[in-house]
Amino acid sequence: MSNKVFNRVCKKCGTKFTSTFNHDHYCSDKCRFYDKTEINPSTPLIEGEHCLDWTASTRMGYGQMGFGTKPNSKRHIEQAHRIAWQLECGPIPEGKGYHGTVVRHKCDRPLCCNINHLELGSQSDNNQDKVKRGTTNKGRSCSNVGERNGQSKLTEADVRFIRSSPDITVRTVMDMFKLSRPSAIAVIERRTWKHI
Ligand SMILES: [Zn+2]
Ligand SMILES: [Zn+2]
Repeated sequence: MSNKVFNRVCKKCGTKFTSTFNHDHYCSDKCRFYDKTEINPSTPLIEGEHCLDWTASTRMGYGQMGFGTKPNSKRHIEQAHRIAWQLECGPIPEGKGYHGTVVRHKCDRPLCCNINHLELGSQSDNNQDKVKRGTTNKGRSCSNVGERNGQSKLTEADVRFIRSSPDITVRTVMDMFKLSRPSAIAVIERRTWKHI
């Protein structure tokens, strides 16, 4: 194998990165994943947001994508909404029973990958409450850490939009999202919404 390194520009966020693979389009699994999703404005608002639908390959109604940590671990096919959970919240706890922990849709739409529409659960009704979102994830409610603080006018989708627009100006963020200058700067500089 050659050790040649290629300079690439991420198709999703515009970040420059290097790869040993000349056709690598994305700087990260996150960018690779979210480039295949699209906000669906015809869906009802849940947790204040529309569904974020998977637009690529599907099986049995669920999105799917090859997923695995670069560079060495094996990629395997994983359901898209489960990938969303892992990208945003880390590993899915194994859980008990044949199915283990499942990632459930609050919106009942299998294609949706909006992290705020997902929650951990168990296939078994009895265990559902025990393994609910927030209690299994090391005490942290991953679903909407940022939106819970009460003063936020942003949604996670907004933050993702801002973060995927490297040239966005403070003024634009202030106008688009009705934020004060300090709040706009904080989100751009990643001093707030660090979990996104
Ligand atoms: Zn990127
Ligand atoms: Zn949804």
